[in-house]
Amino acid sequence: MATIFSRIVAGEIPSYKVAENDKFYAFLDINPLAKGHTLVIPKREVDYFFDLTDEEIGEMQIFAKQVAEAIKKAFPCIKVGQAVLGLEVPHAHIHLVPMQSERDMLFSNPKLKLTAEEFAEIAEKISKEIVCRN
Ligand code: 5GP
Repeated sequence: MATIFSRIVAGEIPSYKVAENDKFYAFLDINPLAKGHTLVIPKREVDYFFDLTDEEIGEMQIFAKQVAEAIKKAFPCIKVGQAVLGLEVPHAHIHLVPMQSERDMLFSNPKLKLTAEEFAEIAEKISKEIVCRN
């Protein structure tokens, strides 16, 4: 059965898309730690991040870098933090979270409750800043 993230890529489940190319897809986390918290996924369905090929990890990281740069412009922060967990959804993904302090990366923190309008506005703000170099 397709993962929830594959169903998002296929458009069967809605998402707040930030960026996309032929191999990767970036969209807002539905339970964000901060405004701009984004997930980057490969379109190829692989559960464990480190089961991706070397080439896929390299390309995914470059794509994530472009998304992180856009997040930082849209939501000024000290740095954009990156984390790979993957215990909830069995489809490899990178979390990108704008950080004002180290504590912003604690996944045990309470998540933001945002309206559909707020999510749409955030996604648009980030997507406008994407500079694709490949
Ligand atoms: P992890 O697998 O890295 O522990 O966490 C999965 C992340 O995916 C969580 O932060 C969760 O909020 C997010 N997530 C789970 N289901 C959905 C969904 O249907 N849509 C979106 N946008 N995010 C989701």
